[in-house]
Amino acid sequence: QISKLQNKVASQRQDWQHKVAAQIVSGNSLVATEKLNIKGMTRKAKKGSKGKHQKTGLNRSLLDVGIGNLISLIRYKLDECGGVFVDVPFKIAPSQTCPQCGYKKKKELSQRVHNCDNCNLIADRDVAAAMVMLNYAKGLGTSLSNADAEPLSKNPQPCGGFRKVQQLKRQKPRT
Ligand SMILES: [Zn+2]
Repeated sequence: QISKLQNKVASQRQDWQHKVAAQIVSGNSLVATEKLNIKGMTRKAKKGSKGKHQKTGLNRSLLDVGIGNLISLIRYKLDECGGVFVDVPFKIAPSQTCPQCGYKKKKELSQRVHNCDNCNLIADRDVAAAMVMLNYAKGLGTSLSNADAEPLSKNPQPCGGFRKVQQLKRQKPRT
């Protein structure tokens, strides 16, 4: 019975990954993601450390959705239709860097707003990180000159942030 359940969970996860990857690729010809250190990211938070609660929650959601596999699928689907995938290296540190002036400052996981000490830019943390990644991707040169071109699909769907993507999973499949 346990193995039956495990199979069911695995196939639900796979189904969800395909759905999300297809949705992201249908609306975007360029996808940039932060190079993820999944092992490090899902490492247990130190006992009694600040932000332990958030860290545990993030670990669970990262493992739960199979983020590594999801990224591979996005990459595969983009390749298939001639889109561009950009792996943003660690040193760019999207969530710690200001997209407007480049000033770097570490944020705790609980800090959801980017508020730059240097240029006073205020933005949602995830939006700011995405802007840093887009800046990096655009700086890569001519192969990305089509980054602002028409989306690949005629009916692109906005895909939103990670939190929204996760919510998709909780919806019952439409029959
Ligand atoms: Zn700044």
